[in-house]
Amino acid sequence: MRAWSVVRPEPVEKGGLRLVEKPVPVPADDELLVHVRACGVCRTDLHVAEGDLPVHRAGVTPGHEVVGVVAGLGARAEGFAVGDRVGVAWLRHTDGTCGYCSRGAENLCPASRYTGWDADGGYAQYTTVPADFAHRLPFSLDDEALAPLLCAGIIGYRALRRAALPPGGRLGLYGFGGSAHLCAQLALAEGATVHVLTRGAAARRLALALGAASAQDAYAMPPEPLDSAILFAPAGDLVPVALRALDRGGTLSIAGIHLSDTPPLHYESELFYEKQVRSVTSNTRADAREFLALAARHEVRATTHTYPLSRADAALRDLKAGRFDGAAVLVNDLS
Ligand SMILES: [Zn+2]
Ligand SMILES: [Zn+2]
Repeated sequence: MRAWSVVRPEPVEKGGLRLVEKPVPVPADDELLVHVRACGVCRTDLHVAEGDLPVHRAGVTPGHEVVGVVAGLGARAEGFAVGDRVGVAWLRHTDGTCGYCSRGAENLCPASRYTGWDADGGYAQYTTVPADFAHRLPFSLDDEALAPLLCAGIIGYRALRRAALPPGGRLGLYGFGGSAHLCAQLALAEGATVHVLTRGAAARRLALALGAASAQDAYAMPPEPLDSAILFAPAGDLVPVALRALDRGGTLSIAGIHLSDTPPLHYESELFYEKQVRSVTSNTRADAREFLALAARHEVRATTHTYPLSRADAALRDLKAGRFDGAAVLVNDLS
């Protein structure tokens, strides 16, 4: 089969991500073989391709927002049949036995493994996934609309729950890319007032079109104090900005896997009155199930830009350069 491979981690313009021939993977006993139909493009793929994340598997195939069809099953893989539509996401293994797994926090499992980093992902004709970590997908959404939900959507959902937004509350979103624009739709459907703070004019227009009450520059003060805020932009200097925008007792949730250093915090204006800062680390399978059900019920729709799978390198270059809003999706033209 043809698959993209991080032959050399380096800036994507240099060509270290290459389309190569690989054997069609053989599913392990507990795995499904999945024929890829569509795969979303996540910023983490860029971090893997460029070596911002350490190499976990030489020549890895990126991609962890896969919508595909089951094409084969290992001897002990259960719950799916050949022909089922299935989703493959970032989290693909936990030990199930450690203290974190035992208390429902498998996102913190030290033995966790990830698709498109520890194992080959969806920038290919075929991929594999442990059946226990494969997701059933709502019938109401097509492949292209579903793909970005599988990482951007799920992470945005966990960030929203970590932000502890009260019913009908005031939510600030700092940064408005793939994850934030899905999170905003869910928060609005659940009755929140959403204020978007981001530097891109096109992203601000998208925010208002989706129903945000206001959209301003990232460093502006929102028009009212916030009960909760989520920082999607990987900019640590926005942490004090967002904390100052919170009302007493408010919570800031930080969604990114990377954040530049935060400046010193001013206790009186940024932390006192019981303001809280929380990080968000990966997600649990329960988060994914809850989010996919809510996304179907509330018709959460990704704004997508499609590229043929054969042009995954161009999609990553465009993501890096900020040439689109919403989410890029690769559609399998290699078949
Ligand atoms: Zn564990
Ligand atoms: Zn991702």
